[in-house]
Amino acid sequence: MKKRIFHKLAFLGASAVAITVLLGKIQGQQRMIRRQMEELADDRGTIKAITGNMREGLIMVSPRGTILSVNSSAIALLGAAPGDWAGRDIGELSQLPELSAALSSALEGRAASLTAWCGQLFCRLFANPVYQERELTGAILLILDDTEREKSEKLRRDFSANVSHELRTPLTSISGFAEMIETGMAGENTRDFAGRITRESARLLTLIDDIIRLSRLDEHAPTPMGRVSLTAVCREVLTNLSLVAHRRGVTMKLQGPEVWVRGNARMLEELMTNLCENAIKYNREEGSVVVETAAGSVPGTVTVTVRDTGIGIPAASFQRVFERFYRVDKSRSKQTGGTGLGLSIAKHLVECHQGSISLESTLGEGSAFTVTLPEAG
Ligand code: ADP
Repeated sequence: MKKRIFHKLAFLGASAVAITVLLGKIQGQQRMIRRQMEELADDRGTIKAITGNMREGLIMVSPRGTILSVNSSAIALLGAAPGDWAGRDIGELSQLPELSAALSSALEGRAASLTAWCGQLFCRLFANPVYQERELTGAILLILDDTEREKSEKLRRDFSANVSHELRTPLTSISGFAEMIETGMAGENTRDFAGRITRESARLLTLIDDIIRLSRLDEHAPTPMGRVSLTAVCREVLTNLSLVAHRRGVTMKLQGPEVWVRGNARMLEELMTNLCENAIKYNREEGSVVVETAAGSVPGTVTVTVRDTGIGIPAASFQRVFERFYRVDKSRSKQTGGTGLGLSIAKHLVECHQGSISLESTLGEGSAFTVTLPEAG
């Protein structure tokens, strides 16, 4: 009897040990699973934080086109409403044909790269298939905002087309007049034709100089900057232009306190020359030009305004006059030897100085161009 009880107790003891070992194992496994889940949550958090802070749009879709994950940049780039899009069909997020074409290709196992206008934005789309152990498990789509590059590319294309056109016009006149002289068709007009050739050639040279100037500015070469008296620069420009102004019966005046800016004296002289030449060119007989310096409304800035009593600029052209080759009145600009590049050069020069340029004008009454520049410390 005693022996049986002893055996039973021994058996129970052994079972308790086994159970304790088992419990220990289960607890160990539970700890491991908890740790792994925490690690996974951490990983997901990290991935979410990374994709959430990306400027690029990132979308992951299942083979059926269900959104597995989408970051906020993708939602914004595609112009969709902010919110949780996971679990919904990609077609609900965007109906852009290029996007669905890129995704279809990726879901068929072929990487695709396309460009598309998403509203106001020009986007580059990259779609790649995703494989796990050779099995296609979805696709990943990357969306990049390429608007700035596209805009500058378009500007460059337009500029090249405009340059060819602008060069062609005087060259056609020159060769036409020269041919008439050569074939004896000019007769007694020879001198007149020769004069026209001279004028057109001068226009061509000015145009080429302006084009070269603009492309140099486009290179954004470092500009040596220093402490410059803007007042002294303006005084110099007015002296240089006094004869031209006098010929047109326009009076010029400099007023305001002496202001100092951080800049490049030669560039500032070029800027003020462009603005003052226009103020003379587009003025009326007996008109006036006032160049006025002042402290800027923002501390640490100064302004210079070139005000004329000329023909004025229509409000619809306020932005456009700074575009390359844009003229309000093409024939008047050409008559006065204009190239349509002066104000775009001026804007470039202002931007090189981290400044800004603005325009106020009333048709038939005059225009005022105001340049704001950083004050010299
Ligand atoms: P342009 O060589 O033709 O003068 P700009 O780039 O200097 O070229 O100016 C662009 C256009 O803006 C001019 O053709 C003219 O129509 C207009 N414009 C510029 N300055 C003035 C001004 N002070 N008054 C009236 N119109 C102006």
